[in-house]
Amino acid sequence: MNCLEFRRAKLADPRRLSAEALAHAEGCPTCAAFAAEVDETERALDQALQTPVPDGLADRILFESTRPRRAWRVWALAASLLISVALGFFLGGAFRAGPDAYARLAIEHVVMEPESLTTVRNADAEAFRAALQDFGGTLKEMPGKIRYIRLCPVEDGMGWHIVFDTPHGLATLILVPGKKLARPERASTGGWNALARPVRGGYYAIVTASPETTTRFERMLRDCIVWST
Ligand SMILES: [Zn+2]
Ligand SMILES: [Zn+2]
Repeated sequence: MNCLEFRRAKLADPRRLSAEALAHAEGCPTCAAFAAEVDETERALDQALQTPVPDGLADRILFESTRPRRAWRVWALAASLLISVALGFFLGGAFRAGPDAYARLAIEHVVMEPESLTTVRNADAEAFRAALQDFGGTLKEMPGKIRYIRLCPVEDGMGWHIVFDTPHGLATLILVPGKKLARPERASTGGWNALARPVRGGYYAIVTASPETTTRFERMLRDCIVWST
């Protein structure tokens, strides 16, 4: 089982992992941390749903107290629905090789790591410059303001996951080493759009909320980065 398969399994059924999955988490700190985050969210959710309202108090603040509880339930439902829709969509066909397989994989990566779009983490331009160099890219100028950089599990190893704040909205760039793509790929699914393009050291994938934003961000990338061939 690789890291991506582990993440899928953990999100699909957080409380019942196969022996294979448990063994993977034992030997993989990244996935163990991911599992701990999911468990923590589950616990917080459980607590929020089960916190009883004290007698008497309930009558007086019924309105105030039911509102947040209901909000939690709706949120929980929406979240589980979203995850199952996302997983259903992606896993329904498992990983299909196809003309857009790697672009779809990039969208799946973003969907499975929603915190990448809501948190600021290691927003360090030098880390980005160094990561690019491994891929044969030289940075002339930043293609936006970096807000998130993380080394993430990708198909067969680790890749860089970077999120930029651009004038047209958030744009995710994933650098995947090693893998050779025959041609650029595009995919749209679940409100996301992705483009995967081969470069010297592997391929990069851009994920944004619309085809227009993807195209614009790629134009910015071309202006800001010189790729050696
Ligand atoms: Zn792992
Ligand atoms: Zn990632």
